Amino acid sequence: MTVLENFNAVRAAVKKAAQYSKRNPEDITLVAVSKMHEQEEILELIKAGQRVFAENRVQEALRKFPPLKENYPDLKLHLIGSLQTNKVKDAVRLFDVIETVDRPELAKKLAEEMNKQNKNLPCFVQVNTGEEPQKGGCVPRETISLVNHCRNLGLNIIGLMCIPPVDDEPSPHFALLKKLAGQAGLKELSMGMSADYPLAVQQGATFIRIGTALFGARDYSK
Ligand SMILES: *Cc1c(COP(=O)(O)O)cnc(C)c1O
Repeated sequence: MTVLENFNAVRAAVKKAAQYSKRNPEDITLVAVSKMHEQEEILELIKAGQRVFAENRVQEALRKFPPLKENYPDLKLHLIGSLQTNKVKDAVRLFDVIETVDRPELAKKLAEEMNKQNKNLPCFVQVNTGEEPQKGGCVPRETISLVNHCRNLGLNIIGLMCIPPVDDEPSPHFALLKKLAGQAGLKELSMGMSADYPLAVQQGATFIRIGTALFGARDYSK
């Protein structure tokens, strides 16, 4: 399958899952996760009309995206990897959406940097729904207080994001994220990846983050 064929297949599956759950497919934004893929592959999707991409590393994104953004000013780039406070300046400069706000200190740094750069980027609070020690995200019971903390700092929090544990049934994690977003008064849900995005759509995802199903497997040996 080519990237273009994959793109069409993913969009068809999103549409089908949306219709099945009586949702408007246009309410679901496909975020193409281009980590570990090079500019030529990214360009194939751009030429097919895709405009929203995501990277998990600030350095890698800095290498790949400035030229692409120059040629395609309507590209939107999401940060989906954990953000260290010393990379906040570069992240705010390059990214359009930050999906991984997960602790008070990071929220504070982001708010300060956005003020400096005169930006107010949409952000998600990342929730570690499986409470996995190695994973980023706040624990579920701290979500509301973190969202409120971010709001007090002036951050534009639009929703919640989660990455369910690899070995778990994703459905309860998606349900928990949706419940927490409801309690926090947030509309957007970033959930669902290549293995489970139709299910995520059925459970209310408004942003799905898809890498492998579009670009094929990532080559970790390089
Ligand atoms: C890599 C990554 C994805 C995409 O995963 P695939 O299984 O390749 O679709 C989605 N979200 C996050 C946070 C990621 O790091």
